[in-house]
Amino acid sequence: MSTRFADALTQMPDALAEAVAPMLTEHFAGHLSAEQLKQLSEKSGLEGSELYLALLPIAATLSYAPISNFFVGAIAHGASGDAYMGANMELVGEALFHSVHAEQSAISHAWLAGEPKLVGITVNYSPCGHCRQFMTELNNNEGLTIRLPQQPPQPLTHYLPYAFGPKDLGMEDGLLDGNDHEMVLENDDPLVQRALREANASYAPYSKTPAAIALETDSGRVFVGRYAENAAFNPSLPAMQIALNGMARMGLPFDSIRRAVLVESDRGQISFVHSASDALATVSQVPLEVFKAQA
Ligand SMILES: [Zn+2]
Repeated sequence: MSTRFADALTQMPDALAEAVAPMLTEHFAGHLSAEQLKQLSEKSGLEGSELYLALLPIAATLSYAPISNFFVGAIAHGASGDAYMGANMELVGEALFHSVHAEQSAISHAWLAGEPKLVGITVNYSPCGHCRQFMTELNNNEGLTIRLPQQPPQPLTHYLPYAFGPKDLGMEDGLLDGNDHEMVLENDDPLVQRALREANASYAPYSKTPAAIALETDSGRVFVGRYAENAAFNPSLPAMQIALNGMARMGLPFDSIRRAVLVESDRGQISFVHSASDALATVSQVPLEVFKAQA
């Protein structure tokens, strides 16, 4: 077991702590399969909401919050039965709007893992207005259950009534519906091609600017992020934030980044060159390599 979870285990029922400890391997980044959740339920005697809430200390341990020292953990529940943890992330030296919230972290985690639909989110503090708006972008927003400590499970519509969402801008699809923007890029570099694949799967229905980031570490590990746009624009989640958050969830230091690649559409109405460079520069000396894909 990774020692970073030692404190979290002391905050959980003994039977659950004992059952989950072997799953918290050195590179555990918050994914529990349906089979693992079933084992945890059998061994702990906890089910559904009780089990999810009891697991939150582990999700909160994935937090990187050097500014607030306020550790938020969230668990996204996939229709597949798998669970994806997320946690907040803050970048010292950068404006606060570059932060990632725990719910965004868990949702982007599930999205990158190929989860087609979410049925619930469990979080250790009440979702902020920004996250209520971000969750409204989900394809299954009307079927999403929010679970909080000391509160009955409630639909997202309870927390954000009269929501403004994709349908108000004429969109049929939502975040987590599959995308293939079919952009192409003449370049054999595997890291660039990986970023291109993620850009083609990104979600940018309003700006029409598909984009993605691929980060490579000293050990050869690759972390990616896809741009996730929002009908209210400002809660959109940039690809760089998702990629950095993947590293933070795994507990890897940002100074292990050796390459950073941005691929974005050559026809977009917006661009991530400046914002992604800014966010990267706060955590790494590595320059951002920029590639424009043909839409
Ligand atoms: Zn939030």
